[in-house]
Amino acid sequence: MAVPKKKTSKSKRGMRRSHDFDTPVTVAFCDNCGRAIMQHNICKFCNTYNGRNTKTGNQAGLV
Ligand SMILES: [Zn+2]
Repeated sequence: MAVPKKKTSKSKRGMRRSHDFDTPVTVAFCDNCGRAIMQHNICKFCNTYNGRNTKTGNQAGLV
């Protein structure tokens, strides 16, 4: 088995671990129904995006 020749320094260990973190999921709330949705995504509950209904193509967002 390959064995490291030198102990990894605190600096090198930190450099490696700098990429280990998880970024928290950002939650946005739908303007129409107020439920939690993914940012920059169509609301899957009421099919609206930025006030517009994406299913009917209604520009005013009036259902
Ligand atoms: Zn919605």
